[in-house]
Amino acid sequence: MKLIFEISKKGRKAVQFPELDVPEQENLLPQDLLRGELELPEVSEVDIIRHYTALSRRNFGVDNGFYPLGSCTMKYNPKINEDSARLNGFAQLHPYTPENLSQGALQIMYELEQYLMEITGMDQFTLQPAAGSHGELTGMMIVKKYFEGINEKRSKILIPDSAHGTNPASVTLCGFESVEVKSNDKGEIDLEDLKSKLNKDVAAIMLTNPNTLGLFETQILEITKAMHQNGSLVYMDGANLNAMVGITKPGDFGIDILHVNLHKTFSTPHGGGGPGSGPVGVTKELSRFLPRPKIEFIDNKYKINYNMPDSIGRVRAFYGNFGILVRAYTYIRSNGFEGIRAVGENSVLNANYLLSKLKKHYHVPFNRICQHEFILTDKNLSNGVTTNDLAKRLLDFGVHAPTIYFPLIVHGAIMIEPTETESKETLDRFAEIMMKIKEESEKEPETVKAAPLATPVSKLDNVLAARKPVLKFEDKIIIPQ
Ligand SMILES: *Cc1c(COP(=O)(O)O)cnc(C)c1O
Repeated sequence: MKLIFEISKKGRKAVQFPELDVPEQENLLPQDLLRGELELPEVSEVDIIRHYTALSRRNFGVDNGFYPLGSCTMKYNPKINEDSARLNGFAQLHPYTPENLSQGALQIMYELEQYLMEITGMDQFTLQPAAGSHGELTGMMIVKKYFEGINEKRSKILIPDSAHGTNPASVTLCGFESVEVKSNDKGEIDLEDLKSKLNKDVAAIMLTNPNTLGLFETQILEITKAMHQNGSLVYMDGANLNAMVGITKPGDFGIDILHVNLHKTFSTPHGGGGPGSGPVGVTKELSRFLPRPKIEFIDNKYKINYNMPDSIGRVRAFYGNFGILVRAYTYIRSNGFEGIRAVGENSVLNANYLLSKLKKHYHVPFNRICQHEFILTDKNLSNGVTTNDLAKRLLDFGVHAPTIYFPLIVHGAIMIEPTETESKETLDRFAEIMMKIKEESEKEPETVKAAPLATPVSKLDNVLAARKPVLKFEDKIIIPQ
């Protein structure tokens, strides 16, 4: 496909201006301040539309088809979220607008915090962090400040071996040292291993629940109790809260600090590095450390409170990614209490339905009822067909690949998260495709290994594609017979 610069033709325009009806002026600006000719592409309106529409079709998105990307929660984003985020009063609002002229925006943020408190059982929230990993860093800064406040030097954070890679990264960035805790053969935190690593140097544990194997940590009460007895805090990575919303609350099982990903659980678009939002919730005891400022509701008015002497300070300009907050707010309001619980129930139901269909054909490392996602492996595929081959072959059937080779503790992991927004028909079709690929691995493994065959670019060398990307290539011209 050509670049837009290559389609450019001198003098071609997408707009036509009327004749100038005032005298033309020249030399109004000093010569030395003038730039040279701007080398912008010169194209017609239809050129622009076709070019960018064609580009958008080369990508796979959740609006194109099923996207079972485990741990990433690629669910359908209702378009009503987009409508409210684009309302002029929100989209055009300047962040320096005075309080008395931005009451509506402040109300949205204040109420979103209240909803998150209700859903998670935490006592206070900040909406500032711009991603889940940013929420983790914010949480670790709060842990640090807390121990400084009580004059204790603690340098270690426990992290289960199934954790998302951002966990140890956030811990290290904040100057802590991470200590790995093993998983047991049920796919949960090994309590004995945890206790053996617990001492007065441990500031906190950073755990994920449901964990990245899609399993609920059934010993969570014992874990939070053991940590608290040691004077340590419990941080929960709640990036994937789908299975829990409306059903159980982290605040109820002893979590001190929690981040949630609005761009996963609360249905705002993500992927490709787009803006996210990773609000952090804390207990009452820790709320004075939250980032500054906080929005408060006093005397029937929303106010921005900067007077927080114990705060860790700002972690983001202004108030966070406001457009994302409006989308999540819309999602929560349009679902309501019953709807949010249905999100939790259906995400679990969909995952278990799919698991029950696929476990007859694929190897399941942890054969138990799952939460919102589950893991298969490539063990039952024949003729050396791997997880990577399967992922590429799925693209030929118009399905995005699941998350693969994660978590690292499962060899050849295929991590599937259908989400609650998919119908039974879609799940059935996906199961059929998965069975077909398994059959292909027996009968025509070469096809699976050569896949994808139907995408604009065929199989890439994973390393070279990242190190030396070829961004331009000629289209295959297919002449109809
Ligand atoms: C996605 C995810 C994160 C990181 O969130 P980002 O918004 O991508 O920074 C952290 N932990 C878990 C379990 C996740 O799934």
